[in-house]
Order: sequence, then structure tokens, then C-alpha cells
Amino acid sequence: MIKKDEYISEAEWQRFLAFSQELETPCIVVNLRTIKKNYIKLQNSFPFAAIYYAVKANPANEVISLVNQLGGNFDIASRYELDQVLALGISPDRISYGNTIKKAKDIAYFYEKGVRMFATDSKEDLKNIAKYAPGSRIYVRILVENSATADWPLSRKFGCHPDMAYDLLVQSRDSGLTPYGISFHVGSQQRDIGQWNDAIAKTKYLFTALEEEENIRLSMINMGGGFPASYVQPTNDLSEYASEITRYLHDDFGDNVPQIILEPGRSLVGDSGILVSEVVLISRKNNTALYRWVYLDTGKFNGLIETLGESIKYPVLTEKDDPSAKEGEVILAGPTCDSMDIIYEDFKYKLPLDLKIGDRVYVLSAGAYTASYASVCFNGFPPLKTYFMD
Ligand SMILES: *Cc1c(COP(=O)(O)O)cnc(C)c1O
Repeated sequence: MIKKDEYISEAEWQRFLAFSQELETPCIVVNLRTIKKNYIKLQNSFPFAAIYYAVKANPANEVISLVNQLGGNFDIASRYELDQVLALGISPDRISYGNTIKKAKDIAYFYEKGVRMFATDSKEDLKNIAKYAPGSRIYVRILVENSATADWPLSRKFGCHPDMAYDLLVQSRDSGLTPYGISFHVGSQQRDIGQWNDAIAKTKYLFTALEEEENIRLSMINMGGGFPASYVQPTNDLSEYASEITRYLHDDFGDNVPQIILEPGRSLVGDSGILVSEVVLISRKNNTALYRWVYLDTGKFNGLIETLGESIKYPVLTEKDDPSAKEGEVILAGPTCDSMDIIYEDFKYKLPLDLKIGDRVYVLSAGAYTASYASVCFNGFPPLKTYFMD
């Protein structure tokens, strides 16, 4: 059902198979070359933008160090991520505290460590920043609607209405902070490029109103993440995103495009990972059942949390895949004792009829939001291990 060639070259596949052969499953194999390639492609597509890697997508030291070598900056969400990134020798002026939900003592901690750029979307949070991170640069996250076309929406919980963003930027100036810019996130795995157009238009309105009415000159737009990885649902190529978004920026800002920040997570690391899994059990629920249940040694609690609501549809391959193999529809499920641990049921994957217990199943494009999202030891299963290929 899945055409492997659309996701990975034969040479890279063979290299992966040789590397992973002896590894115990489940595990993730991350190809650092892919991350490097994706980073360079993103930077070349948006030559004017500063890249802030959203560390939560894959917080492994190997990944952070690679992004550091490539000249990237970092979007950090907690003091623990901060400690990790600083311990790798990254300077605090390349770090943004992008989480709008934070404790006062954590703001103070970031400030003490040298971080001077903070996101916010509320009055209370801004008050804390003014108190515990005086003088810092502030960008305000605005609400954007994105649930219909993003496979993993980030709406509602983050951001505020543009009118409130306006008030917050005035409040930040009045409380001794530096009003710096606007941010938004159009939703992760956003397949509708037009969503950036709406967000940029709202941003332009704020830039103009704040300058005309309050003499506040903002200088930065943080366009968040949302760029795609390669799953089953097709997306435009990154070059399409880049040319369209660049056009939106020039349509609204002319020759005075502000400093642009991008915060890629999924698009940098998603395609780099392959989750290597093994079939634990294959069964039918009655003798004439049309579907096989295929239980893997990975599931919602072992890396595949983004299959909640069957939102992210990973390309799935098996060691029995062959153009001539007969296939049948399956329900894919994980190994734990929670009945929520069904991976795909509504959307029927087709797997070879001769698939057997013990065969390997490969979940492609599993480099983002997997290893760090796996449970610690639900049912005693250990956290998902990651191995890195150069
Ligand atoms: C998670 C997150 C990102 C990364 O989004 P992707 O869609 O994975 O690229 C960027 N910015 C913020 C603030 C985030 O929370």
C-alpha cells in the first residue's frame, strides 16, 4: 500500500536495514543526515529567516548539537530543556522562551541564565516577565484558526485575540520591557499554505496600528512551525510554502519585511526517524472476520501518541512488502493493556497476508514527537530507545 520510494531512497533504505538489523525492537533509528539536509533546505528556502528549532519535536542531544553546528537557534519550553541546551554549550542569546504558560520562578531562572526573549499571550504572564525578566524582548502570540487543515492543530490553547495582543504590547512598553514582535503557529503539519496569509495579515494590522497609535515599532515576526513532514496525506513541497509565504510577506510589508523567525520542529526531524517494531500477535475476532488485528510492540504509549484520533498517518512498511504480495486490510494496535492503544482502526492499512508474528514492521517519518512522547514504563514497557545514524 505504501510506496517506499516516495519516502526513502533505496541506498538509504539499505543503509538503514544494515544498521537496524541487530537492534532490539521497538526502537527509533534517526538519520542525522536527513536532519542536516532538511535544515539546509529550510534555510535556503527562507534565506532571510532565523531558525529557532522547536526542541520538543526531538530533544535528543545529538539533534540539538547538530542544529547548533548548523548555526540554528532554539525555541525552549521549560527550564529542563533550557538546562539541557545550555549544558551543550549553546549561548543564551540564541534561545527564546516560547512557552506562554510558565511559572514566575521559571521566568526568573531563564533570566538568570541569560535568556532575554520571551513569548507571552496574557496579562498575568506579562506582569511576571516584567518583574522577573526586566527589559527583555517580548513577542505576543496571536490566535489563529487552523483546526480544519492542520493534522495536529495547536489552536485555542495558545495565543490571544489581536486586540489583546495590542494591549499586551502597550503594557510591555509601559512596564519597561521591549516590545519586539508578533508570533503565531498555524498548526502543526499544516497542509493549507493559505493559513500563513491570514496570520501575516493580522500581524501587519498590529504592526501598523501600534506604530500609528502608540509609536511602538515592532521589528520581528515569529512564524512558528507548521511545515510538513512526509506522511500518508500528501502535502506541497517546502519550496511551495516558501514562495507563497514570501509573497504574502511582501504583499503586506512591501520592502520593509521585519526580521523573520521560524520555529520548525516536525519538518526538520520528522522524516529522519524510522520506528522499528515487531509483530507481537495477529488475530481475527471471529472465524469469518474480514480484518486481521495486527498487534505491534509499539503503540500510542510507545511513541505513536500522534495517532490519537488517527491524526498523523505514518507510512507503514513491513519486511514482507513486495509488489507481488497479496494484501489485506488490518487494524493496527499497540501492546499495552489500555484499549485506547489502537493505532489505526478507521483508516485501514493494507499489509501483506503472509505477515507473521515476529516480522518487522517499520513506521516511517517517525522522527518527531515520538521518542520523547513515549511513556516511561506503562505496563512495564521501557521508554522508546533512539539510535543515531550519521
Ligand atoms: C511545537 C512548536 C513548534 C514546532 O511546530 P512544528 O509544527 O512541529 O514545526 C514551533 N513553535 C512553537 C511555539 C511550538 O510550540
